[in-house]
Amino acid sequence: MDHSEQKHLEQVPYYAEQGGEAALFAHAFAQRLPVLIKGPTGCGKTRFVEHMAARLGRPLITVSCHDDLSAADLVGRHLISERGTVWADGPLTRAVRTGAICYLDEVVEARKDTTVVLHPLADDRRVLPIERTGEHIAAAPGFMLVVSYNPGYQNVLKSLKPSTRQRFIALNFDYPVPEVEQAIVTRESGVDAAVAQRLVALAQALRRLTAQDLEETVSTRLLVMAARLVVSGITLPTACQAAVVDALTDDADTAAALAEVVAAVI
Ligand code: ADP
Repeated sequence: MDHSEQKHLEQVPYYAEQGGEAALFAHAFAQRLPVLIKGPTGCGKTRFVEHMAARLGRPLITVSCHDDLSAADLVGRHLISERGTVWADGPLTRAVRTGAICYLDEVVEARKDTTVVLHPLADDRRVLPIERTGEHIAAAPGFMLVVSYNPGYQNVLKSLKPSTRQRFIALNFDYPVPEVEQAIVTRESGVDAAVAQRLVALAQALRRLTAQDLEETVSTRLLVMAARLVVSGITLPTACQAAVVDALTDDADTAAALAEVVAAVI
């Protein structure tokens, strides 16, 4: 099954820069270098790629990788139809043929054999060999390969092979500095600046906690969600309970500890 999503963005989606990443990405595009974006969940990786695709005038094809994702899911497969067997391009093949930006989100989730199909595309050759059809497709000029992953989830089994990794330039993302994060929360939710400031102060306090019981700390995405609840009429403490505390943990003790931080800051 094809879990990809294709976007032609006419307007450039809002993206607040963290420091030089837009210029680096644009140069990578010009030099036909594939890009690896590392960073925690909800810190702006996907928004950044959408923003850059629109700025560079390229269509964007996004694939959310999962542990069942096979090479055929990316490249394509033969399908049985009324007219017999027909070949159907997968999202990667579509991007290669049409010169789109192909974004593989959480690439380390995909099966190991899957990433191998990226190798000839991610070096000077820029070709996609399709075993099943015998085709060798040269990537159209606008084609670019972008992958992301979250190093926080990384374990020995789930990391990129060095042979894959060393084909990409890497951009390191993290949650934005407070002033930038406040601007994002305001802009994305329409909440007033004072509330955005308190939410960002809460995030700062929570991110200082030791990550013992939490797999991940509060993301910019969760702050935006809390702010949207406030704009919609929910009180700030209730919004923080739903969009931050209960969103981050299932453990009652951890939730109580987080709720204390909320009570102290909000
Ligand atoms: P990731 O792909 O890293 O998990 P996203 O790009 O989906 O995260 O970001 C989640 C949400 O947070 C976005 O939809 C947007 O509202 C907001 N966001 C995070 N960082 C930024 C940023 N730098 N500029 C604009 N919006 C951002």
